[in-house]
Amino acid sequence: RLVLGIETSCDETGAAVIDETGLILGESLHSQKEVHMKTGGIIPTVAQRLHRENIGRVVQEAMERSGVTQSQLSAVATTVKPGLALSLGIGLDFSLNFVKLHQKPFIPIHHMEAHALTVRMLQPVVFPFLVLLVSGGHSLLALARGIDDFLLLGQTLDEAPGDTMDKVARRLSLIKHPKCSMISGGQAIELLARDGDRLKFLFKPPMGAHYDCNFSFAGLRNQVTMSIQKKEKEEGVEQGTLLSCVNDIAAATQHTVASHIAKRTHRAILFCKAKGLLPSCNPTLVVSGGVASNQYIRKTLKIVTDTTGLHLLCPPSKFCTDNGVMIAWNGVERLREGKGILSHTEEVNYEPKAPLGVNITAEVK
Ligand code: ATP
Ligand code: FE
Ligand code: MG
Repeated sequence: RLVLGIETSCDETGAAVIDETGLILGESLHSQKEVHMKTGGIIPTVAQRLHRENIGRVVQEAMERSGVTQSQLSAVATTVKPGLALSLGIGLDFSLNFVKLHQKPFIPIHHMEAHALTVRMLQPVVFPFLVLLVSGGHSLLALARGIDDFLLLGQTLDEAPGDTMDKVARRLSLIKHPKCSMISGGQAIELLARDGDRLKFLFKPPMGAHYDCNFSFAGLRNQVTMSIQKKEKEEGVEQGTLLSCVNDIAAATQHTVASHIAKRTHRAILFCKAKGLLPSCNPTLVVSGGVASNQYIRKTLKIVTDTTGLHLLCPPSKFCTDNGVMIAWNGVERLREGKGILSHTEEVNYEPKAPLGVNITAEVK
C-alpha cells in the first residue's frame, strides 16, 4: 500500500509518498519561513499565494522521486484541519482534483493527530502514550489512546511557546544579530542563551496557582518585554538595539519557558498515573513540534521523565516540524484500520479550528 501525503495547513507546502512500513519513497518540502520572517509574521493571503504557486511542483517532485505512478497509489491523505483557512483550502482543492482525476480514495487528516503519531513511523510505540506538542502554533498535552482517539489534558490559553520566543527575538531585533541572521527566533534564543546567565533576570513562572495542565506564555512575554524596555531606558539606547544583556534575557526566557513546559508535563504524568491511564510496561512521553528541538527544553523534560519512570522519545527535528511525510503516515495508519477513508466523489470541507480529541480537566494539587 502506497500513500501520497499533502500538507499545507500553515507555512509549509509538503508532499511525500510512503509505503505501509513507513519507508519514505519520495518527498518534497517548500518552506515559506524566510518570506514570513521578513514581514514579521504570516500574512494569510501571502501564504495562500505561495502554496498555490508551489503545490503542483512539490507534489510532482515527491511523486517523481518515489518512482511511483498515480495509478499505483492506494490513497491520498491531506491535512484538512486545523490551520489557516486560506492555506488549508489550497491543499484540499488540489487533493480533491487529484483524487477525482485518478479515482483514488481520499483520507482527510487532522494536523495535530499526524504530529502525535509520526513517532510510530520511526519506532514501535504502542497506545496509550503521552504526547507533548510544542511549536509556533501549538502547545498541548494529550494522551494518545488510538489513531483517532485522544484525550486532551491541557493546551495553551493564549499563545504557543515558539510564538513567544519568536516575538521576544523580534523585540530584541535578533535578526540583525551577527550570530542569528538566518535562524528562527526560537533557535536564536537557544543560541544566545548558551552565553547568558539566566539568574540575571527573574520572570514569574506562569499559572502558578492553576493546578491543571494548561499553558500560558503571553504573561511571560509581557514580563520579558517590560524588562527589555527598562534596560533600553537605563542604557539610553533605541528600541531593539540592546546589546549588553541579550544573552541573559534569552537565557532567562528559555529557562522560564522550559520550566513551565516541564511542570505541566510532570503534572500530566502524575494525573495519568493516578487515573491508571498509562501502561505499566514502558510508559512513554513523545515530544514533537519545532520547539522540541530545543536542547535545554529536552534536558529539562528528561529530568521529568527520569524521575517519573517514563521513556522520553523525541523524533528527529525533521519529523517534528510540518512536512508531507507525517500526513502520509497518518494516511497509512488509517488505511490499516479502515478509518476515515472517503471515496473520491465525497464532499470534504476544511476546518480552521478543530480541537484534538476529548478535553478533560487534568488537575493535580
Ligand atoms: P504549527 O506546526 O504548530 O502549525 P509552526 O509551523 O510555527 O506551527 P514548527 O514549524 O513546528 O511550528 O516550529 C517552528 C517554531 O519552533 C518557531 O516558533 C520556532 O521559533 C520554534 N523553534 C525552532 N527551533 C527552536 C529551538 N531550538 N528552540 C526553541 N524554539 C524553536
Ligand atoms: Fe505543525
Ligand atoms: Mg509550520
